[in-house]
Parts: sequence; structure tokens; C-alpha cells
Amino acid sequence: MEAGVRETRRSDDPSTAAARFVDRGRLWQRHMEMAKIGAIPGDGVNRQALTREDIAARKLLIGWAEGLGFSIAMDAIGNLFIRRNGRNPDAPPVLTGSHMDSQPSGGRFDGIYGVLAGLEALEAFDEADAVTERPIEVVVWTNEEGGRFSPGAMGSMVFTESRRLEDCLGIADAQGVLFADALAETLAATPGTEKRPFNFPVAAYIETHIEQGPKLESEGLPIGVVTGIQGSRWFEVEVVGESAHAGTTPLRFRRDALQEALAIISALNDLMNDPSDTVRFTVGRMEVIPNSPNSVAERVRFTIDFRHPEGSVLSDLGNKIEPTCRRAVTCCEVEVREVFHRQPCCFDPRILGVIEAAATKLSLPAIRMPSGAFHDALFMNEVCPAGMIFVPCEKGISHNPAEYASPDDLAAGARVLALALLDLANK
Ligand SMILES: [Zn+2]
Repeated sequence: MEAGVRETRRSDDPSTAAARFVDRGRLWQRHMEMAKIGAIPGDGVNRQALTREDIAARKLLIGWAEGLGFSIAMDAIGNLFIRRNGRNPDAPPVLTGSHMDSQPSGGRFDGIYGVLAGLEALEAFDEADAVTERPIEVVVWTNEEGGRFSPGAMGSMVFTESRRLEDCLGIADAQGVLFADALAETLAATPGTEKRPFNFPVAAYIETHIEQGPKLESEGLPIGVVTGIQGSRWFEVEVVGESAHAGTTPLRFRRDALQEALAIISALNDLMNDPSDTVRFTVGRMEVIPNSPNSVAERVRFTIDFRHPEGSVLSDLGNKIEPTCRRAVTCCEVEVREVFHRQPCCFDPRILGVIEAAATKLSLPAIRMPSGAFHDALFMNEVCPAGMIFVPCEKGISHNPAEYASPDDLAAGARVLALALLDLANK
């Protein structure tokens, strides 16, 4: 579909007409405008949650939305809602959106794309004179990244009541600034917006996001229909041996914690070996004590991040981690602690069907795929039918200034979103 082609034909059904009004150039322009806020060298952005930059981005977005005649509301954790009304204003709205905060060294598309694609859809509906039964709202979730205030996805967790706001207020950033204070400043910067309660009834939620992985690009596909978010189990392993002099202690008398840790990791690599390359197994941090070149290591701590889209595999392989660690040691003690366990989330099959039907209508090839990363949709899926649309990003690079998605791919995802929203808002 050519961008800028504006005539609607009589034979068009209203949803395809609305998709035609999704304007590739306008959508791209808004990304570039947003990318100026918190711009860092290499085309990246540093727009962490509840900073001056986050506030500036919120104001820019609110300005665009109000300029188009949409109303703005906010809840007590600063989640922002942009509303296009429906014929039945009291009906639970269909929500779409994502986040505007970034990692300290983030890209121009992660999160913000889901927000701007939503706004683009609302504007296209206006231009197409589309009338929906339900209201449609674009939501901006506060602090998805968690880089400044941990954990991430705070806005969507608090909205869906999987975490209490009071339990977030005392969290401090690296400079000692409290979440409560940064939030108060952000709320004060946008006075007069309508107040919303948490967890108000929502008919459905769709989040559009760059894939942050290489699959769509490598297969030459414009649309990913996200089936769910893979499950995660995180562990901390501690290997305890004995420190000794590197020059004088014969190897057979040593209890070398680092050598044993290597044996454990090697055994775990064998356990996690997966010809289909679906298992995600990472040892990302290692601490060696005393960490001296001339001493045998007395103690080694390391982390395991294990993820899989299938609950049964997550359970079975995950349960083998501790016994595998124990079998691999010969002279040291090992302790394995599981610190996080979340089963995979499966998005609602009805939402998957709606997204797939939209892609088909637009002749955009799509595949079903799980998400490797967490998203706000994970939490929304607990309170309403939810789903996600992925678009390709170059080489799968994300959380990096080099992150890039093409104007064509961004527009294609926004068109699929527009059709899916219209469908859901008239159900
Ligand atoms: Zn994101």
C-alpha cells in the first residue's frame, strides 16, 4: 500500500479503509521527534523512567494527542491513557500501547513504537471516519525498563494489581532518589488530566513492539503474531572450596572452587544442549573469591538465567539444574538457590486470530512466534484477553543505540494493529 494514498473506495470495508490512512511518513516523523528527547551518540536515546526526558516525552505525546482532540487520563502510578471515544462510552475500552522509557543506552524504537503506532491508528480512524462501539485507548506504561527503578514493568504490574503501589514508592535509584518523589514530579508536570483507577475493566489489550530478536528479519517476514512470553527460571549457584597458595599446593590437595564451577557449567551446557535452539541458557555473572592470580579460588558464585516457551520443558530441565550441579562437583560443596520462577504466558487464541486475520486482509505474511523478552502484555494477559504484534528490527539488535526498524515495517505493524483494534472495538 502506498503511503499517502487517501481515497477510500466504496467497495472497501471500513477497516481496510482505516488501515490505508496509517501514514508511514507521519509515523516515522514522530519516532524521529521523540528520539531527540534524551538523544545520545550513535542514534540512541537515554530516556529512563520518570526523568526530565521522560516528562518531556510525555508532554510531547500529550500535545500531539490533544491536538487531535483525544482526551488524556492518568492513574496514580503515571500510566497515561489517550482516549478515542466509541458509540458506547461506558463500554470497557480496547487498549493498545507500550512504554516510553528506555534503557540508559537504548534505541529509538523499543517501547515508543507501540505507543506511536497506537496514536497513528487513532488518527487514521479519525481520517477514515471510523466509528467503533467501544472506546479505544492508547496506554503508556510507567517504568517498563526497570533500569532506573527496579523491577521493570512496574506500571503494568501495579495497574493489574500484581504489585501494590505502596510497595514501589520506597524504591530508590542509584542516586538515592525515591520512586515516590520522581513520580510526584512527573504527575505534577501534567496537571489537570483526568484521574483513573487501577485495573478498570478492559475489553482487550494489544501491544505492538519491535521483535528485539533476528527471526522476522532473517525469514523476510513483516509481522510476528506473538503466541506468548517464554517462561523464566533464575538461579544463583555458590561453589565453596578452600583457598590455597598457587605456587605450593599440589593439585591433588586442592579444593578449587573455580575449577569445579567450570565443571558445573560444562555439565549444564550438556544438559541444556538443544538442537532446535529454543532453550535460552545464560551464565551472565560470576564472582570469584578471593579473585587473586596467585590463590586457588575459595568461593565462586554465578547466576543462571534459563528460559523456554514450553511450561513442561521449563519445569523438567529446570528441575535438573540442581542435581546436575551436584553431580559435577568432586571436592567442593555446591548450593543452588532458585531466585525467580515464572511459567510461560500464553496469549488469548482469540486475539491471535484477530491479529492474523488483520495481517491476511492486508496481504502481509505473518508467523506465530513466542516472545523471548518480558513485556507489559505479560501482566495485562492476567486481566483481559491480550496479544502482541512484532515487527522486524535490524539484526535483532535492541537495548542498544544501533537499534533500527524501517519505516515500511513500522507502518505495516501499525496497519495490522489498526485493523485488529477496529475488529475488537466492534465486538
Ligand atoms: Zn520494550
